[in-house]
Amino acid sequence: MQTLRVHDKEFEPYLSAAAISAKVAGMAEAINNDYAGKKPLFIAILNGSFIFAADLFKNISIEAEICFIKLASYKGTKSSGHVITAIGLDTDIIDRHIIILEDIVDTGKTLSEFLPQLQHQQPASMVIAALLHKPEATVYPIDIKYLGFSIPNKFVLGYGLDYDGLGRNLGEIYQLAR
Ligand code: 5GP
Repeated sequence: MQTLRVHDKEFEPYLSAAAISAKVAGMAEAINNDYAGKKPLFIAILNGSFIFAADLFKNISIEAEICFIKLASYKGTKSSGHVITAIGLDTDIIDRHIIILEDIVDTGKTLSEFLPQLQHQQPASMVIAALLHKPEATVYPIDIKYLGFSIPNKFVLGYGLDYDGLGRNLGEIYQLAR
């Protein structure tokens, strides 16, 4: 098996480009069936989801829109600690059917903090499509309507996901070798 060195760590191949492509096409097919006539608005969360979002969206054959946002976390004044805000959400989501595109759900913290903020803007519906999920890492349970792969609690990179800036351009997904 061909391992890969990125910065100081060794990674081994985990999910092939073909396996990812087939899975993403299947996810898009399910969305095409479920959302026909609803003109959903996809909201892709940058940076990690940019390749997943592009590949999924190319397989969407129904009328649909997409926008890209970045989440910024800053220390709030409340005791709850960090506050997450969306940068770049310039589309009105009221009464829209929203499909959030996320590369990976790990602890669930990011989405558990961000989703209630979107709910405040009263979309008609809101679901999550995530390429990867690490069930063993769950701290904040998140309902993922469209899931690509459930994976072990090991660090992954490739297909948009980075390790300290590198690896996003890999067509396959690699896993940290132990
Ligand atoms: P959560 O808030 O669910 O704990 O974390 C979600 C974010 O953490 C993801 O969007 C991603 O940016 C980052 N993340 C979590 N696990 C991994 C991983 O295995 N590899 C990479 N590259 N990023 C990860």
